[in-house]
Amino acid sequence: MDFDTIAAISTPIGEGAIAIVRLSGPDAVTMANRIFTSKDLTEVPSHTIHYGKLVDPHSGEVAEEVMVSVLRTPKTFTREDIIEINCHGGLVAANRTLELVLAEGARLAEPGEFTKRAFLNGRIDLSQAEGVMDLIRAKTDKAMNVALKQLDGRLSSLIRKLRQDLIETVAHVEVNIDYPEYDDVEEMSHEVMRQKTREVHDEIESLLEVAKQGKILREGLATAIIGRPNVGKSSLMNTLVQENKAIVTDIPGTTRDIIEEYVNVRGVPLRLIDTAGIRETEDIVERMGVEKSRQALKEADLILFVLNNNEELTEEDLLLFEAVRDFEYIVVINKTDLKRNLNLDRVRELAGDQAVIETSLLEEKGVDELEKAIAQTFFSGEIETGDLTYVSNVRHIQLLKQSKEALEEAMNGIEMGMPLDIVQIDVTRTWSLLGEIIGDTASDSLIDQLFSQFCLGK
Ligand code: GDP
Ligand code: ZN
Repeated sequence: MDFDTIAAISTPIGEGAIAIVRLSGPDAVTMANRIFTSKDLTEVPSHTIHYGKLVDPHSGEVAEEVMVSVLRTPKTFTREDIIEINCHGGLVAANRTLELVLAEGARLAEPGEFTKRAFLNGRIDLSQAEGVMDLIRAKTDKAMNVALKQLDGRLSSLIRKLRQDLIETVAHVEVNIDYPEYDDVEEMSHEVMRQKTREVHDEIESLLEVAKQGKILREGLATAIIGRPNVGKSSLMNTLVQENKAIVTDIPGTTRDIIEEYVNVRGVPLRLIDTAGIRETEDIVERMGVEKSRQALKEADLILFVLNNNEELTEEDLLLFEAVRDFEYIVVINKTDLKRNLNLDRVRELAGDQAVIETSLLEEKGVDELEKAIAQTFFSGEIETGDLTYVSNVRHIQLLKQSKEALEEAMNGIEMGMPLDIVQIDVTRTWSLLGEIIGDTASDSLIDQLFSQFCLGK
């Protein structure tokens, strides 16, 4: 494929003292060479970096002091010649440098165009390209790891294997039907189909199960703090926000009576929902009772249920225990600095196998244990250590769901004894749906739409 040479500032706007201008395309090296006077860049070996000055070839004026990396095709991110100009003066210098290379004939890259080229030049597949996008947007280190894994092609190779299984099964069955060795060939083929569709179906199902974790890593674990008035809900929210770096977010979340804060607790991004609202007066808080808490529960992935160590369990506490019964929750027994009037055994009994943590938010005690428990509820089981690939992309999840449904139709057909060439229609459809995840059957418009979501310069 023939492409022109594109350029963009590829470091985030407003961050760091160093900014990078990146060029990719057949004329990248010659364009850079026309403005870089200290050395002949067309002669230097690939993957080397050079210190020197940029000069405006028209005015002869020295513009910037820079470091220039020369990366020649094919071992580059886009598989094209790449030039990276490190401008030590930050963004202002980068802007001037960008103007210089545009004046030499480079075209300003569209958002995501570098990654799009990597895809179009066969360097990465579509799910890896989307991995790059998630990487750019990743909110915490753990979310970053998920994106990295996807970039690694783990999802891609798993999807490839599943597609291969499906195609082989279809081929196998076809051969059986065309060249019957046995009398009961139809029945045998049904059996092969039944087994394979079940296997692939189960793999997709487990992928979908971990997909939920991937989504949470990107969007935050919706965490509701509930409890009677005055038990310490706002104090808990404040403590979690103060102790953990709040995550900057562009998601508009704050409504009038529910306040949200994003915090990173041991690698798990929490979207804290304070049902009472820290900015509301205690008068209003008093009026928000069990009803308000029930509302917040609906959208919560995790509930922090706060009780007062200093008071006996009330009717309202028991109602709240009822309300949280079907959810993932942690009981926080607060105010342990005060005399215990709470029946701890009774609380443990009511909580069943959910964690019970004692805190004194006033004396800053028990917060570590609570944070540990929060991280544990999220990373319980094999999710962190198991070798299952995370699926964190909404489009992937959608396609996996459709694939699963198509396979279920195939499985139903087999059970009902439908002719195999009918069943195969659903199996082939699954194969195409899975192909869309890695971009093998994606249409052009889909590709354009995906890449336009990328940040400029990536
Ligand atoms: P909310 O109504 O559930 O949001 O409770 P707040 O967080 O507003 O706390 C109610 C009162 O309890 C405030 O006066 C807090 O200072 C106090 N409080 C919070 N945590 C503790 C604690 O661990 N020990 C003691 N003694 N008081 C606390
Ligand atoms: Zn409060």
